[in-house]
Amino acid sequence: MIDNHVHLDLINDSISNIVDRAKKAGITQFVVPGICGFPQKLDELQKFSEIKICWGIYPKYAEDEELIEKEIKKLKASSLEIYAIGECGLDKRFPNLEKQIHLFKKQLSIALEMNKPIIIHLVGHWQKAYELIKEAPEKPDFILHSWSGSAQMAKEFLKLGGKISLSASALSNPKKLKELLDIVPNDRLLFETDSPDQKPDFVSTEQNEPANLPRIIEAIRELRIESTERRAKQSLAW
Ligand SMILES: [Zn+2]
Repeated sequence: MIDNHVHLDLINDSISNIVDRAKKAGITQFVVPGICGFPQKLDELQKFSEIKICWGIYPKYAEDEELIEKEIKKLKASSLEIYAIGECGLDKRFPNLEKQIHLFKKQLSIALEMNKPIIIHLVGHWQKAYELIKEAPEKPDFILHSWSGSAQMAKEFLKLGGKISLSASALSNPKKLKELLDIVPNDRLLFETDSPDQKPDFVSTEQNEPANLPRIIEAIRELRIESTERRAKQSLAW
């Protein structure tokens, strides 16, 4: 079982403790995105073959051109084999959409150049992000992490070849989630904790962590089984 989006570097514990607890819960791989270039605690992360390290710049930093250039230089100078570009994207909570678009497009082209998938963070601006990907002459493989948009919008991204990754936050709107689960094929559906954020309701600890993933998947699976009788009769692949 893979935690497809987990900020191991931001969880308040040692990487080895977090990984140990997660492995006991059945997690075999961890995709660790960057939000300001490479993740923090890079030396420690590299000690674990189960950890897939990414590089990316979050839309919050879109206005800091100096920082962006500096982090791109670090990426280009690095010999580290990264797993994906991300997380990057558009977020209505931050100002300057034009700069966010510029930064997102830049990372789309880095992903293509490096032949890596891209992990996309979207809070609002779904249509705009869709247009940017659609208009791109070539598209990298892309994953929409912690999807919070509508089923209709997800359908459009699926047509472009995207994958949808769900975290516990999707459970807060069961009706919307059921609609989504009805249209996303198994081979385009991923799961993540987005730890230390997106703590599920059933967790009493202070922070979310990858060991919670099986329970999150189980809760989503139950909803899916409920969603239609037809699906309940099918044997589920996950
Ligand atoms: Zn994230």
